[in-house]
This record gives sequence, structure tokens and C-alpha cells, in this order.
Amino acid sequence: MKELFIDIAYLVSAVSFIYGLKMLSHPKTARNGNIVASLGMLIAVIATVYLGTSLDFYKILIAMTIGSIIGAFFAIRVEMTQMPQLVAIFNGFGGAASALVASAEFFKTLNSTEEPTLFLILTITLSVLIGTLTFTGSFIAFGKLQGLITTKPVTFTGQQILNAILAIIMFIAAYMMPTYGVNSFYLIIGLSALLGILLVIPIGGADMPVVISLLNSYSGIAAAMTGFVLVQTNPSAGNALIICGSLVGASGMILTQIMCKGMNRSLANVIFGAVGGEAETSSGSGKQLNIKSYSTEEAAMIFDAAERVIIVPGYGLAVAQAQHAVREIADFLEEKGKKVLYAIHPVAGRMPGHMNVLLAEANIPYESLKDLDEINSEFKNCDVALVLGANDVVNPAARTDKSSPIYGMPILNVDQSQTVIINKRTMNTGFAGIQNELFGNDNSIMVFGDAKDMLVKLLSDLKEL
Ligand code: NDP
Repeated sequence: MKELFIDIAYLVSAVSFIYGLKMLSHPKTARNGNIVASLGMLIAVIATVYLGTSLDFYKILIAMTIGSIIGAFFAIRVEMTQMPQLVAIFNGFGGAASALVASAEFFKTLNSTEEPTLFLILTITLSVLIGTLTFTGSFIAFGKLQGLITTKPVTFTGQQILNAILAIIMFIAAYMMPTYGVNSFYLIIGLSALLGILLVIPIGGADMPVVISLLNSYSGIAAAMTGFVLVQTNPSAGNALIICGSLVGASGMILTQIMCKGMNRSLANVIFGAVGGEAETSSGSGKQLNIKSYSTEEAAMIFDAAERVIIVPGYGLAVAQAQHAVREIADFLEEKGKKVLYAIHPVAGRMPGHMNVLLAEANIPYESLKDLDEINSEFKNCDVALVLGANDVVNPAARTDKSSPIYGMPILNVDQSQTVIINKRTMNTGFAGIQNELFGNDNSIMVFGDAKDMLVKLLSDLKEL
């Protein structure tokens, strides 16, 4: 009876993961999707911890309480703009957890009189390999995003060959595991940890978003591998883990592809291309920019005469938390009979979907948010493109400058608008560390200041006209 109850609980949780993931695919249902998937996880945890194990329940409860407090503390404290770092750490711990469970199963085989099957050795090796490299790779990605490690690609001759040799040694060690037991196992762990570092250090800062999503996928694959390890001793728990891990692995891989498409790069080029370094101080071509700085009063007059406005949010809008201020401006302009749309670049901000989440927080109608493909043809018919704290995603160097780290990335064609009004605080570069010649174009106007302060002032100036 208890077994049946556990099986049903795992089935319900697996269905919740699938349904929750489906709901996550649209901003309107995403929040509920998250809740559905979380409830599924809660059911799986209860089935495993409370019903499906003979371990000391109180010890598990203490560990879960400590983990939950730490998780909740960081989830509440971390700024939205630091989300990629948090996701990197989560991925790392996900990989480590899978590797630890597989390791426990390995140590069980040492105490068993039965010879481990080839399938068991292979799945343990893959789980430990992928889980450990996800752990170390994610912490390198975290260090790069947090500025603790250089964002420049770290490369040396023979790097790919070394990685291939390490991978071959690991599989030989796995083959030798029945003979050399724990020594082979420790060698696999050590080399996997090294491989994780070596795989991420050659990737430049500008490509970190893709790497984070790739590592997210790896953490899912590691969990699925652990599911294959467990399925032999605990089929229900193993199956639930295989389903859950496959969903994370597949969705992470799809997201990676979407982001590569957003940057117009192949995955191989991201992993082996070693592009996207640290801040350059000059403009890409070294050309002196002819900057025209306007006040909000002057900008208000341009908006007053405009019919069609496209707002381009970027990372700076998130820093300034100006999503409510931008909605107030848009509402005011729409009341005056103007058409206002928002242009969303797939890698604007610091995490996938960052701008959608930010603007949804201010209840900006989802129908007004237009993806790059949809909006790019609209810029030539638009009177004013208002660029708020965006830089790389509107940088024309991506079209023309082959030496630029963002060369080939599709950008929002704001420069085709009648007038481009750009708001940022200074002439600092964006994430990719390159200057932007857009700011010096004849039809470009800069309105300097924090995005929120600027928008509040602009609205009051608009109301006075
Ligand atoms: P950028 O990082 O290119 O530029 C942001 C600009 O905002 C800066 O130039 C900064 O200039 C300005 N800014 C900062 N704070 C404020 C503020 N309070 N008010 C007004 N402006 C401000 O942002 P984009 O969104 O254009 O591009 C995103 C970049 O991040 C891309 O290179 C992308 O590859 C990368 N990335 C994307 C991730 C994702 O998943 N979306 C994850 C990680 C990286 P100043 O300091 O002068 O104000």
C-alpha cells in the first residue's frame, strides 16, 4: 500500500513538472506554472523523505530547514540584476547534488558482494562527471559575472586537446573502476572538476548568459543520469528524477539555442570561439563621437510632436527600477493619442526574459511588448525611439565591425527612427565593454541621468506643455 502511494506521488509530481513547464512558456501563466512545479517538487520530496527512506527523519528535517532558510534568504535578498549569478550558483549546487547521490551509490557498490553492472558503472561515471563539471564550471561563471575573475577569455595552446585527453582518461578510469575501485573514482571526480574549470575559462564575459543556460541544461542531464543510477534500486524515485532531469536538460538546451540565435552565434562558436572580453575604453573605431546632450524639457517637446514612439528597455532600466515610471510616461503619451510600443531584445538586461519580467511587474500589457523580429521593421516608421539604459542591444557595431565582440548579434534598429533619445547616466560602456557610435549619430540625442529620475522629470515636463 505504501509503495503504491509513493508511486502515485511521484507520478503526480512528474505531471506537475511537465504542466508547470508548459505554463512557464507564457508570461501570463508563468507565475502559476512556477507554483505548480514547486508543488510537484514538494510532493516528490515528501514521498522520498517521509515515506520512501529508512533514514533518520529528524536529521533530514534539520538539513532541509537549514537549506530552505539559506535558499529563501538569497532569493529575497538578491537583486533582479544579480539573478544570473544566483542561477549560476543554483546550477552548480544542482550538479553537485547529483554527483553526491551517484557517489553514495558508488560507495554502496564497494560494500556489496554483487559485481556492479556495466550500466551502473557507466551511469555513475556520467552523473559524477557531468555533475562535478557543472559545479566547478558554474562557480567560474559566477566569478566572471560577479567580476571576481577576469571576463577575458583565458586560452592557451592545446586547450581543446587537453580537454579531450582528460575526457579519455576519465572513461579509461571508469572502465578500470571494478579493478581499482575508489582510486579510479577519485580520479574521475578530480578530472571532472578540472574539466569544468577548463571548459568555462576560455569563454568571454559577453557569452556568459549562454554558458549559464548551458550549465543549467548540464545540471538537468546530471540529475537524469543520477535517475538512471537510482532506477535500479528505487525505480519510482529514479523515474521521477529521470523525468525531472530530462525536462531541465531539454529546456536548458532549447534556451541555449534561443540565446545563441539572439546573438547570431553557433553554440560551437560560443564554447570554442573565445570572444567577448573586458572593457575597451575607446569607441570601436576610435572615432570621436559628436554627442548632443538635451534636457528633459527639450526632450518633452520632441515627444509632444511625435505620433509613434518605441521604447527600448535595457539593463539600466532594471538598475534604476524605472518600470513603473516608464509605464506612466507611456500611459500619458497614449492618452494624448500617440502609439507606444516596447521593443524587447532577447539578451537585453542580465537574464533571459529580464525585460518581460520587469515590464510585467508594472502591468504593461503583454501585447505592447514586441520581439526583435516583429519590431525591427517598425523603427523606420517611428518618430521617436526612446532607449532606456540599453547599450549593446542597440549598438550598430554588431552589424559592421568584424572586430567587435558583439559582431553578428542582431540588434534593435533604433538608428532607423526619425529621432533616437538615449538615456543613461554617463558615457560608460555596457556589458560587452565596447563604445557605441549610435550615441554620436546625427539623429541621436542623449538625456543623461538615472532612468527613473529622468522619466519622472520628463513626465512632469510633458504635463506642463
Ligand atoms: P548594457 O549592459 O549593454 O548597457 C546598459 C547601460 O545601462 C550601460 O551602458 C549603463 O550606462 C546604463 N545604466 C546603468 N545604470 C543605469 C541607470 N540607473 N539609469 C540609466 N542607465 C543606466 O545593456 P543591454 O540591455 O543593452 O545589453 C545587455 C548585455 O548584457 C548584452 O551584452 C548581453 O549579452 C549581456 N547579458 C545578457 C544576459 C541575458 O540573459 N539577458 C545575461 C548576462 C549578460 P551608464 O553606466 O553610463 O549609465
